[in-house]
Amino acid sequence: MQTVSPTIYSQRLSLLRAAMIDSGVSLALINPGANMCYLAGYSEEGHERLICLAVPIDGAPTLLVPAINRQGAAANKAGIADVRVWTDADGWRAVLEELIANGHLAGETIAVDDDMPARFVVPIGDIAIGERIALAGSLLAPLRSVKDAAEIAALRRAAQITEDALIAGRMVCEPGATEQDIAAAIDAAFRASGAAPSFESIVAVGANAALPHHMPGDTTVSEGDIVLFDIGALIDDYRGDITRVFSVGQPSPEARAVYEIVYHAYTAAFDTASQAGATGADVDAAARSIIAVAGYGEQFIHRTGHGLGLDAHEEPNMSANNHEPLASGNCFSIEPGIYLPGQFGVRLENIAIVADNGVESLNSPIPPELQDVANL
Ligand code: ZN
Ligand code: ZN
Repeated sequence: MQTVSPTIYSQRLSLLRAAMIDSGVSLALINPGANMCYLAGYSEEGHERLICLAVPIDGAPTLLVPAINRQGAAANKAGIADVRVWTDADGWRAVLEELIANGHLAGETIAVDDDMPARFVVPIGDIAIGERIALAGSLLAPLRSVKDAAEIAALRRAAQITEDALIAGRMVCEPGATEQDIAAAIDAAFRASGAAPSFESIVAVGANAALPHHMPGDTTVSEGDIVLFDIGALIDDYRGDITRVFSVGQPSPEARAVYEIVYHAYTAAFDTASQAGATGADVDAAARSIIAVAGYGEQFIHRTGHGLGLDAHEEPNMSANNHEPLASGNCFSIEPGIYLPGQFGVRLENIAIVADNGVESLNSPIPPELQDVANL
């Protein structure tokens, strides 16, 4: 866990309560994961056992955990003192019933974490008869999408470790190496830096690069291939995410041309993000129009970017349906791509952060032209 002062957690809880009041929510039940980490400075997977942070609009928050998680929960960095423990013998239902009965349901809605499993949500609905169940994600997403200084520092660190691992992958990217060999070198570099992969490292050779979420396999690098890397480090709860494409030897003329189109789409999106008042939809449109004009509009099959932070994908999205102006502290990817099934694909991705005086990339500049990995 990252070192964050307890004051920051209490500010976050206050902002959540304000959002709950605005939305008529009387109690938020938060599941292990990014939201719990953000609010409590604690998160452990409970799997089939309920671990839950209960935030009422009035009164102190409560951590509800099984006995085996008592110590971890008690050490939460937010200083939440009310840790209620349930046992495997007795189950969690009675403890949650007591929590709900203790006046926490002054309003009409309980918000449950978007990631809470149905095995908990359905019984919660039975306990809270007459209350509406809503999703808590929309209350937290606007808070989490504005990063503070400590979060930005953590994101920078994740970006640096990601770049170092990319170099480690490039070093072993040569004819005869398999995608799995290259991914193993990347993952070893993450571990050497005290990080873990944020998601399964993507190394895609040749036609596999036309599959945006290809998993590394036994495909071997050959002379003339292009290779796509999409990797990210996870360190201190925050994440990196970068995509680069290289050639091994001489690429085809079309690969060179497609690379340059995607590069121009990236720069157009970045420049648009830098303009005051730009929305996620504007950023998406800037990239999409460059690719469409070049005749590859049908081959750009995803949004231009996603927010990044405690989760690998969070808000704000750079997509046609996001009409919110970007705000200082937003952190997101810009990653246009063109995918030609059976041939190759190109995606280029850097992480952008919005500051008061413009937009900054957390990663090194993307090369304007397709580079031979042997020449780096
Ligand atoms: Zn990525
Ligand atoms: Zn991404």
